[in-house]
Amino acid sequence: RLSWAAAQLDASRLNVQKVSKAKDLPPPEQLVFGKSFTDHILSIEWDAESGWAAPQIKPYGPLALDPAAVVFHYAFECFEGMKAFKDIDGDIRLFRPDRNMARLNSSSERICLPTFDSEEMIKLLKEYVKLEKNLIPDKKGYSLYLRPTMIGIDAGLGVGTPKKALLYVIASPVGPYYPTGFKAVRLEATDYAVRAWPGGVGNKKLGANYAPCILPQQQAASRGFQQNLWLFGPEGNITEVGTMNAFFVFKDSTTGKKELATAPLDGTILEGVTRDSILELARERLNPNEWKISERYCTIHEVAEAAKKGELVEAFGAGTAAIVSPIKEISYHNEPIYVPLQEGKETGQLTETVANWISEIQYGIIDHPYCQKI
Ligand code: PMP
Repeated sequence: RLSWAAAQLDASRLNVQKVSKAKDLPPPEQLVFGKSFTDHILSIEWDAESGWAAPQIKPYGPLALDPAAVVFHYAFECFEGMKAFKDIDGDIRLFRPDRNMARLNSSSERICLPTFDSEEMIKLLKEYVKLEKNLIPDKKGYSLYLRPTMIGIDAGLGVGTPKKALLYVIASPVGPYYPTGFKAVRLEATDYAVRAWPGGVGNKKLGANYAPCILPQQQAASRGFQQNLWLFGPEGNITEVGTMNAFFVFKDSTTGKKELATAPLDGTILEGVTRDSILELARERLNPNEWKISERYCTIHEVAEAAKKGELVEAFGAGTAAIVSPIKEISYHNEPIYVPLQEGKETGQLTETVANWISEIQYGIIDHPYCQKI
């Protein structure tokens, strides 16, 4: 008897149906993050029996789903956030798409949604982005934000393994996170609510991880803080900041040696592509006689203590949307911890340096394997 196999994702089966009239790019200064979208959607249906259907690029528009679709009831949803850039020569570059596709597969697998061949998906992303070329702003700080999304779509209220799924990608032209230069944020160290926990799914990009974090954010905002600094455990380990990975710079006042530290990937931390890039570039580029690069737990008490002794040098969040977000203050149990900034600036020195390292790669000012022309 012949064994029968479900179809793999195959970029060569792509069908393209273009809109009759292409949109114009809105004036760049009017771009609000994630509010305007391009003309098309890339979508691929999956069925447990037949596998991945032929990929389609078609006009952007609403999805028609059964109200009993499992995505609406049991949160069978995961997603990615990544960017395409128009470089200084007008060519298009994707930043480390292999990382985002690996993470999407890992998120999807965790909630029993299908996995796919990352390389085929990257080919499709490239075709999609090329088609939307005119909607990628070409100024520094601007980009096309891509939102790959996987949902379970079979109808039925039984809690079980989804038998049908939809993988789709939409795209939004976005402007710089800091249009008028860095703006350092004030954080509330949060221990009354927990973002992720050991044995949980904090290292997966599931929609279900995000909705519960808005109420604590609103509470922090009502007290004047932009974001939560998420703590975990009796030691007060710092895990992440808002939806970014958290980095701290310390300086030992006796040896003068500096340390760049971020939480280890223990399953509770989203494995940020920006985090990984910063660690890799810092290990390559910072002088090892002056710098130690650590993936280790930092506690809120250690940070408070270091600030008192003048050994806290900088702190920042790292993620795709802003690259880095400088931190100027952390409130812990109503006590402020002040983080130094450079004279007359809203950022620390290393924070600014790593932001430049990454944006030079993204805009093709230097050629680096993270970002290839497509
Ligand atoms: N942590 C969380 C919780 C996030 O949602 C994100 C954004 N994906 C990050 C960190 C940063 O990840 P990346 O650098 O891949 O954008």
